[in-house]
Amino acid sequence: MTKIQAVINHKCPRCRKGDIFKTSAYSMKYADIFDRCSNCNLRYEVEPGFFYAAMYVSYVFIIAELVTTGVIAFFFLGESYLWLTIGLVITPAILLSRVNFRYSRTILLHFLGPIKYRVDKEENQADS
Ligand SMILES: [Zn+2]
Repeated sequence: MTKIQAVINHKCPRCRKGDIFKTSAYSMKYADIFDRCSNCNLRYEVEPGFFYAAMYVSYVFIIAELVTTGVIAFFFLGESYLWLTIGLVITPAILLSRVNFRYSRTILLHFLGPIKYRVDKEENQADS
């Protein structure tokens, strides 16, 4: 599994096999994270408050969504429909909030945290 596939599927940053989240994004408990990886026993919260940094990643997502939908709405509606434009800009940000939450934590773990990918030696010996 490549790193991008591991991020898309919310897999462990070290072994890329264990799940990070306990349920799907559609569940009411979409934010629940396993304490440790089921495969390699990696503790996901590296240090207390580690996931606070995911707010900054989420902030980047929100700004990108707001600017993109804002430019598109302004392109089609112009200046004449201000409240409709505001509604069109805010709606995707609200609808994508769960996706933003989950991907911000996953990206933090994979790209911005101290955890490095470790090839499973037993798996490599079995393959060769
Ligand atoms: Zn793992």
